[in-house]
Amino acid sequence: MKVVHCPCGVDVSGDSDDELVTNVEQHIESDHPDMVGSYSREQILSMAHDH
Ligand SMILES: [Zn+2]
Ligand SMILES: [Zn+2]
Repeated sequence: MKVVHCPCGVDVSGDSDDELVTNVEQHIESDHPDMVGSYSREQILSMAHDH
């Protein structure tokens, strides 16, 4: 499982790269709407690591 630890303290996870990117984008939309569009797929994946 891949995880991104958001600076706000929320852990966003996904079973695949695609799922992780989707979940991170949804988290940004719901919790950080001012950041929507700020992170590319590559940037999101560069913040991710395996758990
Ligand atoms: Zn971790
Ligand atoms: Zn967050």
